[in-house]
Amino acid sequence: YSLDHFVVPDHYEEDVSSILIPHGVIMDRIKKLARMIVDNSQGPLVVCCVLKGGHQYFADLVDEIKKLRRINGTSVQLSLEFIRVKSYMNDTSSGGVKISLTDAELQEFKGKNLLIVEDIIDTGATMVKLLDRLALVEPKSVRVTSLLIKKTYRSNGYIPDYVGFAIPDAFVVGYALDYNEYFRDLDHICVISVSFKIIWDVI
Ligand code: 5GP
Ligand code: MG
Ligand code: MG
Repeated sequence: YSLDHFVVPDHYEEDVSSILIPHGVIMDRIKKLARMIVDNSQGPLVVCCVLKGGHQYFADLVDEIKKLRRINGTSVQLSLEFIRVKSYMNDTSSGGVKISLTDAELQEFKGKNLLIVEDIIDTGATMVKLLDRLALVEPKSVRVTSLLIKKTYRSNGYIPDYVGFAIPDAFVVGYALDYNEYFRDLDHICVISVSFKIIWDVI
């Protein structure tokens, strides 16, 4: 979508080339995902937010699950956990990953039904690494939802249980996804402009 058709903050107008998924469409999709997740859940869920990029999807997903309780009386008890995952490389390519999870924190997941909430699956390396780590403490079940999955030749074949949108192989920002910590405060999921990336890579 053209930038002219949606509200983009002035401070990002020059840095974004197009809107890939407008905020309203994201919110609508999350309603549907919340319903699917609740319909397939048995017993209490430990919802794990993968920080930082997953925080907005996590917040809106938890909200929608709570709204469902009021609408259908469907009730799934949620507890909320946060895992920090950081790439070694701070640019648009995926590199090594560092998962901040102490053994004590990991023990919290033993015997629980986990729902991992991630922003985007690119190569799949991060998620496979996280799942390997979680498997060590033997949760009762582990499901993964990612708002986005990239259609890319770099994929290791990993596909999450619940996917919001499959997107083309471009670097996207907004809705808590960043580029060097920029764009997290943008509501829509957008494609970064070439000029913005070039300026950063030179710096
Ligand atoms: P993977 O390990 O699947 O290759 O990459 C996963 C992580 O890389 C994501 O959780 C995200 O932090 C980052 N990433 C991959 N593609 C993109 C993208 O298009 N935009 C942003 N902002 N981050 C991305
Ligand atoms: Mg992520
Ligand atoms: Mg990032």
